[in-house]
Amino acid sequence: MSEPTFDDIFDELIDVNEELQGFLATLDSLLPEASTLLLSEADVLLAGAHPLALSPVARERLAGEARKASGFVAGKADNGACCQAVYLAKLSAVLIISSAVAPEDDWLSGAASVSLLRNTLDLALYRQEREMLVADHEQSVRQINLLQQQHDKLIKDNYRQYRLNQDREKEYARKLESEIAKQTAELREANARLEEISRLKSDFLANMSHELRTPMNAIIGFSELLSEASLTEEQLDYARTISQSAASLLTLINDILDLAKIEAGKLELEYLPFDLAELVGNVAAMFKIPAREKGVAVSCQIDSRIPKRIMGDSNRLRQILINLAGNAMKFTEQGGIDILIDYDREAAGQIVSRFAVRDSGIGIPADRVEAIFEKFIQADGSTTRKYGGTGLGLAICLQLVELMGGRLMVASEVGRGSTFSFVIPLAEAPAEIISVKEPRDACHEKTGGGRILLVEDNAVNQRLASILITRQGYEVEVASDGAESLEHLRNQAFDLVLMDVQMPNMDGMEATRRIRAIEADPALRQDYVGLRARQQPLAIVGLTAHARKEDEDACYEAGMNGFLTKPIVKAKLALILSERMPA
Ligand code: ADP
Repeated sequence: MSEPTFDDIFDELIDVNEELQGFLATLDSLLPEASTLLLSEADVLLAGAHPLALSPVARERLAGEARKASGFVAGKADNGACCQAVYLAKLSAVLIISSAVAPEDDWLSGAASVSLLRNTLDLALYRQEREMLVADHEQSVRQINLLQQQHDKLIKDNYRQYRLNQDREKEYARKLESEIAKQTAELREANARLEEISRLKSDFLANMSHELRTPMNAIIGFSELLSEASLTEEQLDYARTISQSAASLLTLINDILDLAKIEAGKLELEYLPFDLAELVGNVAAMFKIPAREKGVAVSCQIDSRIPKRIMGDSNRLRQILINLAGNAMKFTEQGGIDILIDYDREAAGQIVSRFAVRDSGIGIPADRVEAIFEKFIQADGSTTRKYGGTGLGLAICLQLVELMGGRLMVASEVGRGSTFSFVIPLAEAPAEIISVKEPRDACHEKTGGGRILLVEDNAVNQRLASILITRQGYEVEVASDGAESLEHLRNQAFDLVLMDVQMPNMDGMEATRRIRAIEADPALRQDYVGLRARQQPLAIVGLTAHARKEDEDACYEAGMNGFLTKPIVKAKLALILSERMPA
């Protein structure tokens, strides 16, 4: 059987007719002989155990009078017996009552009887009311029980749901944990793979840089030598073309390697003192000849509040300025190019300075201004055909400037010119620091006698370096690897060793470490003619195609006291030899 619902319960709530019926039944029990009629508000007619016979007209009239009157209204039943009508406010109904079933038993005629009747009616009403209350009470108890049952059921349901949710949550958390653990493991693996790839990439880069620079070394060196030989005009033109093409190829190789290095996060900036005015002057000087040929003026200007000697990576700053000034020169046919360095403000003990390269050239269309900073992108498709270039320069400058803590920007107007600028903090170099790497002016070069041991495994490079050294007026002896260099030192004295780093058998690092160890041991030193009589340690200059800072650092750590990158640039070789060779 289905459980009772609220609707069922409220259906049972007191029905008006039922209430009237109950009253009549109570009255019947109090006045078993009386005949009764009850007329509800809605004109429903109900009769007691002995229905009173009364014509509808008489009934309506009597009921109407009773509703108006405050007490009993006397009337006559159809059988002639006396009857009384009274309005029962509590039931909103009119009761018409006759004393007995038979007219002869009429006890309602006396006033006392009417009063008795009133009391009886009140009693019936009270009883009826009490029964109603009892019924109500029972109804309420049933409702309360039902509510209690439903409440208990809800609590049980809730608890069951709560347990279910908890189980689900636990299951979900367990799955989540295992999923996270799985993904973490996958990420770790992917990360390790990436690290390995990145390591391989950087090794590859280092090797590529070696592989690419070694032949470039030969091409540039020999074409330079060739240009100096006695050649016909045509031959000289060929040699110069080779030289220039090799130089642009080397620039491109350097750009690509630089970019790869920056992107691999491997590019570290140096922090050494240098002379800013000298650097900017050198950059401007580089463009003097093309400027004169084009009829374009080149100027540079540095705010006097900017310290003369500053700390930083002079090579990279030079690279940025050369790139920007090179572009300015390339895209300017008339007017001028200005390299400007302005004082911006002082912050945290540093001079924040604004570098700008301004030109009066062709300008850049507004919709191309963002694109030109991307790799391999030029302002318009015809640029390469007309002006050459690869679209790498600005991408490199952008990254280098960011590494220096600034942002490269451009303001440009087509047909009027462009200004590339960046703001970077500059720290003043402490007075006591004197750079060991400060480039010396070419006029300080000296050539002279002296013996140099060239340690180099590549035959072409041996030849080229030997020629360059001899042309500087020095004697040269060649060893093909580190072990051979030690043998040479055992039997001969030298003023300087030019030591290639990457060689078979024994590399340049190992050979340098051994030379320094021999120098430090008086007993061992006796076996080496090249080392035993020396007052000062032998000068060893590293010679390597690796141009990374860590390679340079490694050379110094191994005990070298100079560093030259390949391809060997004649001027740089001359400079370092003049610095390191005895006067
Ligand atoms: P490249 O000069 O090798 O093409 P860059 O990255 O240095 O590569 O420059 C990208 C492009 O930006 C150039 O090809 C040119 O279209 C534009 N550009 C750069 N500098 C200037 C300038 N000073 N004036 C006009 N256009 C310029």
